[in-house]
Amino acid sequence: MPAAPVIKTAPTHWNIPPKEQSGNIELRDRNTARAKGATALWVARPTEPKERELIKILHETCAQMQIPIPKLLIYASSKPNAFSATYTGSLMFGTNLLDIMTHDEVKAIMGHELTHHINRKQDFIHDFIEGSVLLAGYLLIRDQLSKLATKPWVKTTIKIVGDTAAMIGDIALTLWHKRAREYRSDLGGAQVAGTEAMISGLNTLEHRIREIQQQEKHQGKKHRPLPAFLRDHPDNRHRIANLIAHPSSSFANKHQMESAANVSAPAIAR
Ligand SMILES: [Zn+2]
Repeated sequence: MPAAPVIKTAPTHWNIPPKEQSGNIELRDRNTARAKGATALWVARPTEPKERELIKILHETCAQMQIPIPKLLIYASSKPNAFSATYTGSLMFGTNLLDIMTHDEVKAIMGHELTHHINRKQDFIHDFIEGSVLLAGYLLIRDQLSKLATKPWVKTTIKIVGDTAAMIGDIALTLWHKRAREYRSDLGGAQVAGTEAMISGLNTLEHRIREIQQQEKHQGKKHRPLPAFLRDHPDNRHRIANLIAHPSSSFANKHQMESAANVSAPAIAR
């Protein structure tokens, strides 16, 4: 029988250096990292070979995309992940991701995260306006229906059923947008590193996630997958199908990349 895969374990406690040594990591960044299961967080160090390589990739990719260089943070985690923090604009890369990925795969993930990064303000405004309009519309309809109802219990039922349906609808819509943005960011990653590197990166991620699930299964942990409409990331095979449907090798600037990503991604997300 083959031996169970060895999982590198991250430190089990938060080990954040004091402010003056940590390059002023914002509290919001610390909280974001902690919520993602990180056990420590620091500014990428040029003295560490893997982090130095990542800093180089960040600089190259930002030059390619013609955008300013955001703050790059590293967090300790045994799970492979990287993300762009919405409010602070920092990019965070997990140590495990750097351990398992090749240079080209890391570059593709960098392009993916930077695509989230450059779109984050516009996405936030979009969600805010959409949410406000839908809420106002819903309250108007609910008010009109309540006026038509004569019995108090009918009014209460309209409120309870309507509010529950509106809340579920809001969650489903938010997650739908999140999945559409993953497709868009995958195209961004493919445009800076090539479609092949992006697909390879997604496959490495998927492989590692399965490995972790296997390990957890051995430890008696049950893994129940959520239905597709409740997930914030699309299925890997759909992401790869999207990349194959929109092959790209390079792009000239940020605007070309944005328009290519914006036009093609939502159609696949449905
Ligand atoms: Zn993403």
